[in-house]
Amino acid sequence: MQNNINNILSIDVEDWFHILDSPAVPKIDTWGDLPLRAEASMDKILTMLAESGTKATFFWLGWQAERMPQLVKRCQEQGHEIASHGYGHILAYQAGHRAFAEDIRRAKAILEDITGQAIRGFRAPGFGITDKAAWAFDVIKSAGYEYDSSVFPSSRGHGGIADSPLGSYYIKTDSGMLPEVPMSMVDIMGRRLSLFGGGYLRLAPQRLIRWGIRQLHRRNEPLIVYVHPREVDPQHPRLPLSLARRFKSYINLKSTMPKLQWLCKNYSFCTMHELIEDFVRAFYSETVNNIPVVDMTTGKAANKKVAMPKPLRPEIIEYNPDKKVKKEVKLEDH
Ligand SMILES: [Zn+2]
Repeated sequence: MQNNINNILSIDVEDWFHILDSPAVPKIDTWGDLPLRAEASMDKILTMLAESGTKATFFWLGWQAERMPQLVKRCQEQGHEIASHGYGHILAYQAGHRAFAEDIRRAKAILEDITGQAIRGFRAPGFGITDKAAWAFDVIKSAGYEYDSSVFPSSRGHGGIADSPLGSYYIKTDSGMLPEVPMSMVDIMGRRLSLFGGGYLRLAPQRLIRWGIRQLHRRNEPLIVYVHPREVDPQHPRLPLSLARRFKSYINLKSTMPKLQWLCKNYSFCTMHELIEDFVRAFYSETVNNIPVVDMTTGKAANKKVAMPKPLRPEIIEYNPDKKVKKEVKLEDH
């Protein structure tokens, strides 16, 4: 089962009530009155990761990080990557340009204050960046994030960009190039299927997940897993959601931790930032010529499938392959 592909385990750190797009979800001004349960769940996850020697990427909600800075530091001290999930768990296409920009800048500042390090990665709540909110990529880039992992390359309740590429690529924004790490999908006769996060991961039998990972690795793509702390906490309080949402949010919670343990035991993982460094290197290598660039510049969101065959070389990203030091990789535009 092992091969040399490094996979990604990503955790969106938020609490049990951070569910989107339902009138049953409490408003942010009441969150402080609710019992917080993420700490105990995070303890389970961090202990499991330490035992299996796995490094993960934690996309912290700024609101949550403010309330448990010691836990952010514990993640950091264990060698995991700290990334941002925004501050108040808002959907980009509902919030609009200005509110989204303020939210993601605020989260970055809070996390950088706690960690004393640059926060490089961003993931939008609910994978809530759609075709119509393609401006959000420019906002992410101009807020100083170095990569994005917000695209769910299939349609879903909120968010999702159905026909975007599978595997990592560059997004061209008005503020420069933004590497994108979308969620993993398997392609079954032209239909895209998620097996590797949230309710999909909880529902899919292990054999199917293993088969799906093999499909990804055959395409030379890493597995990107995404989970939330509440998913390893089967006893957490339930919100009065619609039947369909209850099913999706609460089904099979007991299976999350055993599946994570199984994944960590059988596959190798690195942080998302390490993956991005390798991705940048591959983009500029002589042998890899198939990394797409997707145009999401403000005026051209509709042309998002315009792919550019790599004409952009060193003017865009400075990378010297002779210096084999990972830290030499720069993702900034010139
Ligand atoms: Zn979230």
